[in-house]
Amino acid sequence: VAHCEADVNNNTPVEVVAKNPVPDFKWHVLWEFVKPQLFTLVCAVVLAFGAAILNIQIPLMLGDLVNVVARYLRENTGNYVHEIRGPALKLLGLYGIQGLLTSGYIVLLSRVGERVAADMRKTLFASLLRQDVAFFDANKTGQLVNRLTADIQEFKSSFKLVISQGLRSITQTVGCFVSLYVISPKLTGLTVLVLPCLVGAGALIGSFLRRLSRLAQEQVAKATGVADEALGNVRTVKAFAMEERELQLYAYEVDKSCEMNENLGTGIAIFQGLSNIALNCIVLGTIFAGGTLISSNEMSPGDLMSFLVASQTVQRSLASISILFGQVVRGMSSGARVFEYLALQPTIPLSGGGRIPYHSLTGRVDFMNVSFSYPTRPGHQVLQRFSLTLPPSKTVAIVGESGGGKSTVASLLERFYDPTSGVVMLDGLDIRTLDLCWLRSQVIGFINQEPVLFGSSVMENIRFGKPEATDAEVINAAKQANAHGFITGFPDGYNTVVGERGVTLSGGQKQRIAISRALIKNPSILVLDEATSALDAESERVVQEALDRATRGRTVLIIAHRLSTIQRADLICVMSNGRIVEAGTHVELLSKGGYYSDLIRRQRAEGQK
Ligand code: ADP
Repeated sequence: VAHCEADVNNNTPVEVVAKNPVPDFKWHVLWEFVKPQLFTLVCAVVLAFGAAILNIQIPLMLGDLVNVVARYLRENTGNYVHEIRGPALKLLGLYGIQGLLTSGYIVLLSRVGERVAADMRKTLFASLLRQDVAFFDANKTGQLVNRLTADIQEFKSSFKLVISQGLRSITQTVGCFVSLYVISPKLTGLTVLVLPCLVGAGALIGSFLRRLSRLAQEQVAKATGVADEALGNVRTVKAFAMEERELQLYAYEVDKSCEMNENLGTGIAIFQGLSNIALNCIVLGTIFAGGTLISSNEMSPGDLMSFLVASQTVQRSLASISILFGQVVRGMSSGARVFEYLALQPTIPLSGGGRIPYHSLTGRVDFMNVSFSYPTRPGHQVLQRFSLTLPPSKTVAIVGESGGGKSTVASLLERFYDPTSGVVMLDGLDIRTLDLCWLRSQVIGFINQEPVLFGSSVMENIRFGKPEATDAEVINAAKQANAHGFITGFPDGYNTVVGERGVTLSGGQKQRIAISRALIKNPSILVLDEATSALDAESERVVQEALDRATRGRTVLIIAHRLSTIQRADLICVMSNGRIVEAGTHVELLSKGGYYSDLIRRQRAEGQK
C-alpha cells in the first residue's frame, strides 16, 4: 500500500499517505462492498445476458421476415398478410421481451451501483473521521471531499457501465460472429479482414479525441479556478481596484478553453464524417458482395438482410468495447483512490484504554520532558524537553511570542498529536493509556480563538458538547457562559439557526456559545486558546466575565496573547523556542524584570501607538 512511515520518532510512528499517483486497485475491498448486493447483481447479469442473446436472435428473425417478403415478391402468390403474420408476431414478441429484460437489468444494476456507492461513501467518511489530526495536516480537505464525491461517482458509473455494456457488447460480438459465420462463411471471411482495421483506426482517433477532451476540460477548470479565486476574495480584488486585471486573466483562460473546445469539436466532426462514410461503405460492400452470392444461389435475400443487421451489431459492439476499455481504467483508478483511504488506520485510536472515575479525578496535568515536532515538519522541533505542571483547580497561563509553541502544548494535552518523547500525564497516568474519547468528551473542554459553529440551531450547537444533554442543561450552560440573555433576545430563541447561511453572530456572541458548548460537558480541565484576543473591549468584558465564572474550580490552561487577561492566573509561564524561560505570578515576574516585564512593556507601547 501507499503508506510510508515518517521516521520522526521512536514511539509514535505517524502514517502519512505517500503521494503515490496510482495506488493499487484492491479487488477484495470491492468484493466486501459488492457481497451484500450479490443476489441483485447476479439477477442483473442474468437479465443483461438474456437481453444480449435476444439481440443476437433479432437479426436472424429479420432475415426470415425478409425471406417471406422476397418470396411473395418473386412468386406473387398466397396471402401476404397471412404469411407474414407468423414471423412478424414472433419478432414483435421478441422485441417486447428484449425491452422488458433491458429495463429489468438497468433497474437492478442501478440499485446495485447506488447501494455500493452509498456504502462506500459512509465507510470512507467514517474512515476519514477516525484519522488523527496529523493526517489532516498532510491532506487537503478539498482532496478528501473529492474522494467522497467525484471519485466515488466516477467509480459507480464505470461499474454500472462496464457490467451492462461490457456484458452486452462481448456477448453480442461473439454471438453475432457465430451467426455471421452460420449465414455465410465467405462473407464473414471478408468482414473479418475489413472490420478490425476500421475499428482499430476508430479506436486510435477516439483516444486522440479523448486526450483533446481531457485537455479542454482541464482548461475549463483552470478558467473556473481564476473566477473562483477572484469571487472568493472579492474584497481584496476591490480594495486593490483589480477588477480589470482579473477580468483579463479570466478572459485569457476562457478564450484558450474556447479555442481548445472548438478544436475538439472539429475533431469530433471529422471523426463522425469519416466513420459515417466508412460504415455506409461497409453496407454497400456487403450488399455488393452478398448480391454476387445471391446470384450464384449461395445465399438468400433474407440471409443478406440478417447478415447486414448482425454485422452492424458487431461493429457497434466492438466500438463500445474500445470505449469501455478507457472507462475501466478510469473507474479502477478512482476506486483505488477511494480504497487507499479506507485502509488507513489512525495512529491514535479513538477508544480503548482506561478511564478515571469522575469523583476521583483531580485534574492534575504534568508535561514531563516533552519534545515534539509536527509529523509534517519532522526536522523542526517545536517543543524541547518541555516540562510543566497544571495543579488541580488552578489557572496556568502560557505567554510568549507567536510561533513559540504555545498552541502546540494545548494540542498535546488534547492528544491531537503524541509527543516525540516524554509524557503528558493526567492524575499521574500517561494519557496514552487513557480512553481518548472519554478524555476529549468528558475531561477536557476546549475553547478556540475562532469558534466554529455548525449550520444548525443554537440549541444543537451547544448540545454538540454533550449530545445527550436536556434542554434545561443547555440553557444552564448558556447562562453560565453569559449567553442566555442574547439568545433569548432572538425571535426564535434557542431555535435560531446560526453558522453558514444562518444568523450572523458577533465575535463575542459566537465565543459565548462556544463557551457554553465547552461548559455543558462540565469538564475538569479547560483549555482556552487565545479565547479573547479577537474581540473588542465590550465583548471582551462579557466574555471574560463568563470565562472567570467558567474557570472556577477547574484546572485551566490559558494560551494567551493579551497579557491583560491573565494577570490573575496562579502561574504564568513565558515560552520561547519550545521551552519555558520564566515562570511565576504576575507580581513576581514583574519585579524580576525579565522576559515577562519586557513583553508587558512592549504590549503597552504598542497599545499607545
Ligand atoms: P504559538 O501558539 O506560540 O503561536 P504554535 O504552537 O502554534 O505557536 O506553533 C509553534 C510552531 O509549530 C510554529 O513554528 C508553527 O509554524 C509550527 N506549527 C504549528 N502548527 C503546525 C502544524 N499543524 N503542522 C506543522 N507545523 C505547525
